[in-house]
Amino acid sequence: MNWITNYVRPRINSIFSRREIPENLWSKCDECGTMLFHRELSENLNVCTNCGHHMPIGPRARFAALFDGGIFSEVEVPQPTPDPLQFRDQKKYPDRMRAAQKETGEKDAMLVARGEIGRTPIIAAAQDFSFMGGSMGMYVGNAIIAAAEEAVKLKRPLILFSAAGGARMQEGILSLMQMPRTTVAVQMLREAGLPYIVVLTHPTTGGVTASYAMLGDVQIAEPNALICFAGPRVIEQTIREKLPEGFQRAEYLLDHGMLDRVTKRTDLRDDLISITRMLLGLPPAVKGDLPAPPPVEEAIAPPAETPEPAKKADKAETKKSGKG
Ligand SMILES: [Zn+2]
Repeated sequence: MNWITNYVRPRINSIFSRREIPENLWSKCDECGTMLFHRELSENLNVCTNCGHHMPIGPRARFAALFDGGIFSEVEVPQPTPDPLQFRDQKKYPDRMRAAQKETGEKDAMLVARGEIGRTPIIAAAQDFSFMGGSMGMYVGNAIIAAAEEAVKLKRPLILFSAAGGARMQEGILSLMQMPRTTVAVQMLREAGLPYIVVLTHPTTGGVTASYAMLGDVQIAEPNALICFAGPRVIEQTIREKLPEGFQRAEYLLDHGMLDRVTKRTDLRDDLISITRMLLGLPPAVKGDLPAPPPVEEAIAPPAETPEPAKKADKAETKKSGKG
């Protein structure tokens, strides 16, 4: 392993064919330092096979492993006004957006889909941390409202996977307005008597934790996920005290009554099927009776490069034309 295989070859591959995954790609686990074969890692849903550390996973890869047969259809999200404040920090906001769109192949930081899990129809929404830190702007607000409206229209439960650094500062007050907007969306589900389940993934922070991410009927988190409003460093500096071990991590929050359960990503699908069926008053799913999830290597490419199985061709097409 040297800098040619680590850096130069992936770069060359990415220049010549963005969609091809080099067979010999290895990733290093941030937690235990083990070198993991890329295919093995994606088969295990980006969870380290050595220490169980949960690495980020993109919404498409998550949905491919969540829905029966990896099949889902996207719910259209209304496009908000781009760059309403003409915001500029080191870069212009539209330039940042374009770079994130190019890198992830997504429009913004949330993907909404309809499909079935264990033959139970649901709506799912997943936040994409690799898209500008999963930040909540007007698009994310629109996505959650679209997801709630679709759930109410089709009388399905909504399962939401959160991952965010907080509100999108480039949209100023408009991003903060998504907190009450999404809270109203959650209320719509409540009034319709539909379950709303939140899966908190690493990290879920800021305005997202202060709104829709903590309003679920059932609150599940992935192991060791950081879930907080203000981060541990900020708190430590403010109160000038050493924080307890594991502070603001999923297991700590479970012990202190903020969560209902902590579930490994590889067990999440089964848990979500049981919980949704229970909340809908359906008989428990008999394992043999359900379509198995797809063989993962087909459905899942690495994060940020994951095509939706059914729309593989379209997606590649869009990407190509987008580049030219
Ligand atoms: Zn590890």
